[in-house]
Amino acid sequence: MIITLSSDITPEQLQSLSALIGSFGYKLTEVKTQGGRYLVAVGSAEFDIRLVGKAPGVSDVHRVSDAYKLVSRKWRVTPTVIDLGGETHVHEGDLTLIAGPCAIESEEQVRSVVSHLKRNGVAIMRGGAFKPRTSPYAFRGLGLEGLKMFHSIASQAGIKVISEVVSPGHIAEMYPYIDIFQVGARNSQNFDLLGELGKVDKPVLLKRAMAGTLEELLQSAEYIFSSGNEKLILCERGVRTSEPSYRNALDLNAIPALKEKSHLPVIVDPSHGVGVRRWVEPVALAAIMAGADGIIFEVHKHPEEALSDGAQTLNYLQSERLIRRARAAFQFRRGL
Ligand code: PEP
Ligand code: MN
Repeated sequence: MIITLSSDITPEQLQSLSALIGSFGYKLTEVKTQGGRYLVAVGSAEFDIRLVGKAPGVSDVHRVSDAYKLVSRKWRVTPTVIDLGGETHVHEGDLTLIAGPCAIESEEQVRSVVSHLKRNGVAIMRGGAFKPRTSPYAFRGLGLEGLKMFHSIASQAGIKVISEVVSPGHIAEMYPYIDIFQVGARNSQNFDLLGELGKVDKPVLLKRAMAGTLEELLQSAEYIFSSGNEKLILCERGVRTSEPSYRNALDLNAIPALKEKSHLPVIVDPSHGVGVRRWVEPVALAAIMAGADGIIFEVHKHPEEALSDGAQTLNYLQSERLIRRARAAFQFRRGL
């Protein structure tokens, strides 16, 4: 059950409301976000929720049977709109394109990708500065200095920046140089990290875990929301299967399923989803046709020289074609 509190609820009203719900054996969590103040009540006893609805200080009450509550579409029917400032929004009904290298490597690389994105009207650039790598000997990113450089060049060009955060201890130092925090597959269930991102007033793009279920992804999103941050974007990036021909299996089923289950925008990462450069475009287009609100993909001037994920990274020509076809696919879907 989710109870939306009115902004002028008094401490006394809150106390008697909590006592009322507690008397039915429900466990209460108070949630305060940029968007409002809520009580999430978890319990199983049947009672007339109108009793709660008419209590002073309550503006709205809903039963939500899902394990996740605040991210559920059963509670909030209106799709969430993520406002990145300027003209940039991420939401249902639009197609968000995010592109950039797997990792930030140099100033020259960032400038080059920024002009590629500007030429193609892409408003958000990805690029990892803190890279989670399977091998400790692989390139692990340029760290905070790299992020500062990335942000400075991109923001001067009017481009928003998304970069992965791997540790709760990095959030504060990354905060001024980022527009969207990315939580990667490996940290999708790092609950300390999720909780800390709940205290931040910047959007978070949350990826599905390597073999995570949709329910696990939504519960992870619930961690961030219930810790105070409503600005969430879900990201399908493929799951690991026993098939060795590609890196992951992009789960197209997840797109309509997540759109139905949650009010949050759903973005798809075809680069990690398939892991093979020449298959990125077809799966990206399929994701758009399946209802994705956007795609995030890897691009590099010379993918074969990229310091990470080169095999799944598009060159500029391929990226340009994908961007064009992605927009065409989206227009086609809208006209259906
Ligand atoms: C990435 O976006 O470069 C990345 C590491 O993705 P994922 O967490 O999906 O593996
Ligand atoms: Mn990558």
